[in-house]
Amino acid sequence: MKPLSNVVKSAPPSGIRRFFDIVSQMHDVISFGVGEPDFVTPWRIREACIYSLEQGYTNYTSNYGLLELRQAISRFLESRWGIEYNPENQVLITVGVSEALDLAMRTLINPGDEVLIPMPCYVSYAPCVTFAGGIPVAIPTTAENGFRVSAAQIEAAVTSKTKALLISYPTNPTGATISRAELQAVIDVARRHDLYVVSDEIYDRLTYEGTHTCAATLEGAYERTILLNGFSKAYAMTGWRIGYAAAPVEIIECMMKVHQYTMLCAPIMSQMAALEALNNGEADCEEMVEEYNRRRKLIVSGLNAIGLECNMPGGAFYAFPSIRSTGLTSDEFTEKLLFEEKVAVVPGNAFGECGEGHVRCSYATGVDQIREGIDRMARFVERIRSNNGRTAALRE
Ligand code: PLP
Repeated sequence: MKPLSNVVKSAPPSGIRRFFDIVSQMHDVISFGVGEPDFVTPWRIREACIYSLEQGYTNYTSNYGLLELRQAISRFLESRWGIEYNPENQVLITVGVSEALDLAMRTLINPGDEVLIPMPCYVSYAPCVTFAGGIPVAIPTTAENGFRVSAAQIEAAVTSKTKALLISYPTNPTGATISRAELQAVIDVARRHDLYVVSDEIYDRLTYEGTHTCAATLEGAYERTILLNGFSKAYAMTGWRIGYAAAPVEIIECMMKVHQYTMLCAPIMSQMAALEALNNGEADCEEMVEEYNRRRKLIVSGLNAIGLECNMPGGAFYAFPSIRSTGLTSDEFTEKLLFEEKVAVVPGNAFGECGEGHVRCSYATGVDQIREGIDRMARFVERIRSNNGRTAALRE
């Protein structure tokens, strides 16, 4: 047989999936692993979908998506951020932010173009750039700087090949948020070097401290920014696979071209559900955010209490503690914790090399689960430390 695509074959498998295949075979596991809401999609949204099916909405939609949904998104962005996107040609409904990200990369990248990505970051970013023929360039961030990228770091990473910057605040896996002034400084660099900015704001509703800044609203950003967002996290709609991109007309036209040949349109039933989420789902969203906030405080104080140093994340639903004090690597920590105490976390290096020394703990899980998980982790960490102590004593 002739060889399969080198580009695809050389992409590493997702470091998250590897563990989840193991976890799915085990019983009594406390999972801090999955990055998805533990809530079921609010009933009113499910009901709207059921009703649309009863009415016979089972067809393709416009390639751009239902005009009514695009209008609702446009109104939503205008009322939330004071930013205007024409629903006719500046909003594209996609199969999750995942598809929107892929379309953005395929639209922006010529072979060999570099895309700057602050890391640790969502596992799909680098592969999407590579699949589109580009070169992902990692910009490492650390706990010391709150996992925020600085304008100076971006400036230092720009080369003649740099085409775009891919950012996401609040961030998966660190929960980092960024201030308006810091983000403006980042945009200023993009403007100076004529870079596109792809801003994945899927966690914007899950901001607990300060206010989220929509990147496209900053000075000099609108014409160069592709804003990505969706319904998976804010409305607990991961399985519906529905998201959107908003950007200048020329960019959306190109993204639409790829979308129409590859996806045709997002499923109409999910579009109907998303419309209900935007029109009437605000209270449900706020309720879930309040609950995540409660869990955030619980898990972060628990992790710090057992000696796993952890920044208070400003957004998303992830804590990203350091596990360096245990002397284990992220992989060792994750594997031992899973097999010895049945707690699933994700090794930090799954999100880029600079994530080593950390693990990601998702708190999109119940309060009782969080308490039990932290108790098990406390036992585990205590055991590791006393083993380390014994080994050190024997050496002396
Ligand atoms: N972007 C980020 C930062 C994510 O964390 C995720 C999912 O975890 C996605 C995009 C994928 O979103 P969607 O379900 O809309 O495809």
